[in-house]
Amino acid sequence: MKKETASGWVPLEEAVPVDLFKAEVQAWARRLQVEPLEIHVRPMKRKWASCSSRGRLTFDTDLLRQPAEFRRQVIVHELLHLKVPNHGALFRCLYRAYLAQAE
Ligand SMILES: [Zn+2]
Repeated sequence: MKKETASGWVPLEEAVPVDLFKAEVQAWARRLQVEPLEIHVRPMKRKWASCSSRGRLTFDTDLLRQPAEFRRQVIVHELLHLKVPNHGALFRCLYRAYLAQAE
């Protein structure tokens, strides 16, 4: 997911620890019924997250300081690529459906 996507800013004290973030990703993985091979958090320049064809997910460290709603959008987006490798109609439909469930 590219970084041009708009995001807000939250005070540093609202930042989540890496472990909690990974637990959030795992919780979503169960909900989407996908199994990421590995979950990494490291600084990324151009993207909020990426997903390898083998199921290795990488999230940008900056994401830990983003609002919960935006974090959720990035997490669901990347995990969904384990089901649908492109951004086609099926992807957009499932993406909306899963995020709607979260509310
Ligand atoms: Zn994508």
